Amino acid sequence: MRRAWSRDELLIAFNLYCRMPFGRMHQRNPTIIAVAKHLGRTPGSVAMKLCNFASFDPSLQARGVRGLSGASLADREVWDEFHADWTQLALNSQQAVGRICGREPVVAEEFPEIPQGPSEAVRSVRVRLVQSFFRQAVLASYEGKCAICSLGLRRLLTAGHIIPWSVNRERRADPTNGLALCSLHERAFDTGLLAVDDSMRVMVSAATRCDRPPPVHRVALLEIEGSRLVRPRRFAPDPTALAWHRENVFGCGGATTCQTTVKVIGPRVLAALGGTI
Ligand SMILES: [Zn+2]
Repeated sequence: MRRAWSRDELLIAFNLYCRMPFGRMHQRNPTIIAVAKHLGRTPGSVAMKLCNFASFDPSLQARGVRGLSGASLADREVWDEFHADWTQLALNSQQAVGRICGREPVVAEEFPEIPQGPSEAVRSVRVRLVQSFFRQAVLASYEGKCAICSLGLRRLLTAGHIIPWSVNRERRADPTNGLALCSLHERAFDTGLLAVDDSMRVMVSAATRCDRPPPVHRVALLEIEGSRLVRPRRFAPDPTALAWHRENVFGCGGATTCQTTVKVIGPRVLAALGGTI
């Protein structure tokens, strides 16, 4: 008789769905085999559950890709729960993975944590779990490449928040509030030198212009103006978050300065985005 999936098992499956690159969601994947063993299920049933979640994914539907049609009501509820509160569900699912599998980063080999310096050591476990989920979900969506230049060196890749988590804590684990970016483009985006318009094309601030720019400056910044953002495999960037970034960060000196601006002129915008100051 088929055993119903428990809530913990569904949380783990959705966690895997978010963090695993699409091409690896099959029953021969060692991570899926290991998780299936912990759950007492077959690798095929775990892989199938991941594909069930794909049937809810609007970014896949937009590309004409359909997941399996056997998704259950419980699958839908987990999908909806995550989308209503990414931060809490990211934490719950990371903890469920730890409980059942005995350790947290079941797909760590895909996008390993990169040490961020001394502050990393004092971060709370909860923040680290949420941040780890966000990083892996965003990097998996972009198949481990920078959304602007396609650089694929993992040590130079980061999952950047479109609306900084200091501005909107509710969206700190939401992968639609993220972009996979190389270190240079992450910094340029975060400090307002770059933005993305409604048609997903890169905007470049006039502050990047200078006389006789060296080749790297030209190629990495000036010549990317108008280029199309790499389309992610899922969790496409949220247009309202990109609009917020254009209005509050682009061309005005970066996120830190602009948070002050938000406090003064933008509470209505933030409220519309469900944010907190
Ligand atoms: Zn880049």
